Amino acid sequence: MLDTTLNLGSRVVLPKPEFDLLLADLRQSGYQTVGPRLQDESIVYSGIDSLADLPRGVTTEQAPGKFRLMRTDRERYFDFIPGAQSWKQFLFPPRLKLFSASKEKRWELDRSDDACPRYALVGVRGCELAAIEIQDKAFLRDDFEDPTYRARREGLFIIAINCLQPAGTCFCASLGTGPRVERNFDLCLTELDDAFLVEIGSDLGRSLMAGRNFELASAFVQNTADQALARAAGQMGRTLDTSDLPDLLTHSANLDARHWDEVARRCLSCGNCTQVCPTCFCWDVTDTVNLTATTTVRERVWDSCFNPYFSYQAGGNTRPTIRSRYRQWLSHKFGTWVQQYGSLGCTGCGRCITWCPAGIDHVAEIAALREEVKE
Ligand code: SF4
Ligand code: SF4
Repeated sequence: MLDTTLNLGSRVVLPKPEFDLLLADLRQSGYQTVGPRLQDESIVYSGIDSLADLPRGVTTEQAPGKFRLMRTDRERYFDFIPGAQSWKQFLFPPRLKLFSASKEKRWELDRSDDACPRYALVGVRGCELAAIEIQDKAFLRDDFEDPTYRARREGLFIIAINCLQPAGTCFCASLGTGPRVERNFDLCLTELDDAFLVEIGSDLGRSLMAGRNFELASAFVQNTADQALARAAGQMGRTLDTSDLPDLLTHSANLDARHWDEVARRCLSCGNCTQVCPTCFCWDVTDTVNLTATTTVRERVWDSCFNPYFSYQAGGNTRPTIRSRYRQWLSHKFGTWVQQYGSLGCTGCGRCITWCPAGIDHVAEIAALREEVKE
């Protein structure tokens, strides 16, 4: 180790074998280390112990309705763009027990399962960090906050990764969320052949790096990494024109556009787009009572605005058609979200495009709507 002082923003070169020691130290400090793994011909986020658990030498081919793993000619650990899962499952779990109660215990609420794990997330992309920022706005409001989300969020250690190989459905550069990670991380990696260029983003990150076998990053290494990132920004699979958003989606004259009917003929209202989206936050509550009615469990489960019952309320369903549900989803993400939270509800990760079984590409749908209303 060099005798040097690390500061926030310092960039150092860490040999890859040292990274495994860093993960071990995180576990020793009580973190569950989670990262990308190959599973079911896709990439999931799950427990990892070392770099050997990551999808090495793998890239992904992604297009509307298509995802395919492919081998690359270099042995890197982060040359892929993630699969359907996002980090949202760790902060806002798809199914979460809120409490149980039993007659035997006089229906007292039992919240004994609500211990919150501390996660160290490994390989968080710029678009995914932006999605966490967006979910913070929904779950950590001034007038209301979700205690489970708060506890999980405060326990996070974030190891981000700069994207060097965008997929065909990526458009983070249009939204300013990637491919370079700018903020809100503890450590940020740029992958080199035998080492990681590591940027220090927090005091916690700095203390984890102290005493490790790193070298200061030379100007040559930093330039090489910066050029690779600039190339990645120029290789986005898609470009979203945001110049007329949110007005295009919220203008009352556009609510009856023919294009909504056209998309509705293709959309299955399956809700895949909302389940894979790292910013979608809708949920429902279910109560499960046993057959003898002596115990009950209340759970929070992910919901979707494509669920036909999502907008059912006294007097009927306010969005009974696929047309109305698709329009609601798109005009919320790219329209009313801005009024609600001060930003678009999309970070350009491309998941909803890749994982839509009908191959619906909302970048193309927005462009088509724009063309129609210009007529
Ligand atoms: S847009 Fe695609 S993923 Fe979303 S509900 Fe329609 S068919 Fe399903
Ligand atoms: S709307 Fe689609 S592209 Fe945007 S953040 Fe959600 S899944 Fe990603």
